[in-house]
Amino acid sequence: MKEINLKGKRALVTGGSTGIGAEICRQLAGCGADVVINYNDSRAAAEALAKEIGARYGVKAIGIKANVADSGQVREMFLQVDRELGGIDILVNNAGCETVQHILDLEEDAWDKVLNVNLKGPFLCSQQAALQMENGGGGIIINISSIHDTVPRKGLVHYCSAKAGLKMLSKCLSLELADKGIRVVSVAPGAIETNMNRAEIEKFGKDKFEQWIPQGRLGHVSDVAHTVVFLASDLAGYINGADIYVDGAYMNHTVQYDPRPERKKK
Ligand code: NAP
Repeated sequence: MKEINLKGKRALVTGGSTGIGAEICRQLAGCGADVVINYNDSRAAAEALAKEIGARYGVKAIGIKANVADSGQVREMFLQVDRELGGIDILVNNAGCETVQHILDLEEDAWDKVLNVNLKGPFLCSQQAALQMENGGGGIIINISSIHDTVPRKGLVHYCSAKAGLKMLSKCLSLELADKGIRVVSVAPGAIETNMNRAEIEKFGKDKFEQWIPQGRLGHVSDVAHTVVFLASDLAGYINGADIYVDGAYMNHTVQYDPRPERKKK
C-alpha cells in the first residue's frame, strides 16, 4: 500500500486558522505539503498555526488575509501565493459561516453573507486556483460542504441552500476542469464539534446529539482532515466530482430538532 506523500505540493486552505480548517492544515503539512492558511478575522490564530506547522513539520507555512467573498481580495491572495510558492496544487475551500434564523425573520443581509461566504467564495477561489493549476499541469480542489447539502434543517434555509449549491459547483467544476488535470470533489461533514456549532450542541445536550448519530459519537476535526489528505493524494487519483459524507451515518438518521430562536415580535 502506498503512503500518502504530499512533499513538494502547495496547498491553500481557506478559513484555515480554526476548527476543521486548522486540522486540515496540520494534516496536509504532516504529509509534507507547504501550506497557506487563509483567514479573514483570525490573524493571531493564523500566525500561531503557521509558526507551529513550520516548526513541527519543516514545511513552509504562511498566513494570508482575504475575505473569500471579495473578488479583489481573492485575486490578490492568489497573486501572493504565486509570488511566495510559485503556484498551487491543492485548494481546500473550507471557509464557511452560518446563522440560525426562522425563515420568516431571515434578513436579506444574513442570506447574502451566508451565500457569499459558503458559495461565492469557493467559486472565486476555485477560479483563481484553476488558472494557476492549468499552467502548472493540474491539481485538486476540495470543497468542504455539509450533510446539509442534501438534508434540510429548520432555521438554516440560507446555509442549506448554499451548501447544496456548493455540491453542484463541485460537480460542474469537475466536468469543466477534468481535461486540465484538475479534480474537484466535495467533503460533507456531519456534526463535528467546533466553534461553529458548540453552542447548539450544548443547547440540545451532547449525549442526546450523540444518540442521534448511528456511530454514537460526534465527529472529530481529524475525521474530516484525514479524508481531505486522502483525496488530495494520488491514491484518490480517479475520484472526481464526488460528494463524500463524513458523518458516522448521521445523515441517514437526522432528527428534525428545531434550533430556531423564538419568532421576533410581529
Ligand atoms: P469555524 O471554526 O467557525 O471555521 C470557519 C472558518 O471560516 C473560520 O476560520 C473563519 O475565519 C472562516 N471564514 C468565515 N468567513 C470568512 C470569509 N469571509 N473569508 C475567509 N474566511 C472566512 O467552523 P468549522 O466547523 O471549522 O467550519 C469549517 C467548514 O466546515 C465550514 O465550511 C462549515 O460550513 C463546514 N462544516 C462544519 C460542520 C461542523 O459540524 N462543524 C459540519 C458541516 C460542515 P476567520 O475567523 O479568520 O474569519
